[in-house]
Amino acid sequence: MQPIPVNEPLLDGNEKKYLSQCIDTGWISSEGDFVKQFETQMANRVRRKYGISVCNGSVALEVAITALGIGQGDEVILPTFTIISCAAAIVRAGATPVVIDCDRLTWNINVNQIQAKITAKTKAIMVVHIYGLPVDLNPILEIADKYGLKIIEDAAEMHGQTYYNKPCGSFGDISTFSFYPNKHITTGEGGMVLTNDEKLAEKCRSLRNLCFQPQQRFIHEDLGWNFRFSNLQAAVGVAQLERLDEFVAKKRSMGKLYTELLADIAQIQLPLAKTDYAENIYWVYGVVLSEELPFDAKEVMERLKEYKIGTRPFFWCMHEQPVFQKMGLFAGVSCPVGENLARRGFYLPSGLALTEEQIQRVAQTLREIIEQEEQKLC
Ligand SMILES: *Cc1c(COP(=O)(O)O)cnc(C)c1O
Repeated sequence: MQPIPVNEPLLDGNEKKYLSQCIDTGWISSEGDFVKQFETQMANRVRRKYGISVCNGSVALEVAITALGIGQGDEVILPTFTIISCAAAIVRAGATPVVIDCDRLTWNINVNQIQAKITAKTKAIMVVHIYGLPVDLNPILEIADKYGLKIIEDAAEMHGQTYYNKPCGSFGDISTFSFYPNKHITTGEGGMVLTNDEKLAEKCRSLRNLCFQPQQRFIHEDLGWNFRFSNLQAAVGVAQLERLDEFVAKKRSMGKLYTELLADIAQIQLPLAKTDYAENIYWVYGVVLSEELPFDAKEVMERLKEYKIGTRPFFWCMHEQPVFQKMGLFAGVSCPVGENLARRGFYLPSGLALTEEQIQRVAQTLREIIEQEEQKLC
């Protein structure tokens, strides 16, 4: 039985060729031409004026928050069901994260619960598109406009996705991407901040590069980081970006096949195929076990592991993170939808290198496991 990894990227385009060019020319640092090329191409792709590459998607959020001037005394609204990077960036900046529960079907932030959480201290809303389906942005953009809030759009899982035909990553004041190997396009490690605002772009570029000053390089007015992105990473990125449409189409057909194979299993909830504003691009193919089943995601994942099938649990909600509870954050917060997703959701192998035969084996094995567990109950 061959193992089926939870994620394996596809690197069989021009990656090697462009990497060789870096090595042959000696341009391997952040100063190389591929870096500029990748920044420009990503910006064009999501119709932003400026793209600022950084070393991963987590620090892209830190740069975005800091560039917007968010800090002590400010509150930032975000979904509770997301990756730690989102809340960590807010907390590290000295601001307070305010979490919102998610929608049962889309797994994205429940837009109807945002307005009630706005206070005089609210500075921004961090929009995070989850697992392949974008957040319903229009109501959030309206709220932001009404209350004068900034929008940070975390599009780390949304390469090539659109919201009403407009690219994800083009919304709000500033947006971020990640190029980790499980994303739709990868550079190994990598990230980007995008904006249309020249001053914000300048600030991001400076923060990424230790806030060196052009005139007096070693005199610093502000504290930055070395979050630079190398030409080697960018070379891979340029090659990957050439294939983004192909990759998105492949993910969509993988998602469609999983759905066809699993749709008749009543005890599991599958990802929503589409909404009014978008068609799922299945960053990962998630499944949620119904509450009637007497076991949780952990047990099913362990059973799948016996068949050498790799899986990952869903995100664990921010308000339930021990690290934040120890800081005294989120006392008394309850988000029942997110709490349930975190316990009953997990995702199946979803990497771009996955074959149809592998998807069939995964679906068949999952079906058998659920049927066996059911029989035990009878
Ligand atoms: C992957 C991801 C990140 C973090 O990106 P890294 O490059 O792994 O640091 C941030 N936000 C979301 C929504 C992600 O999926």
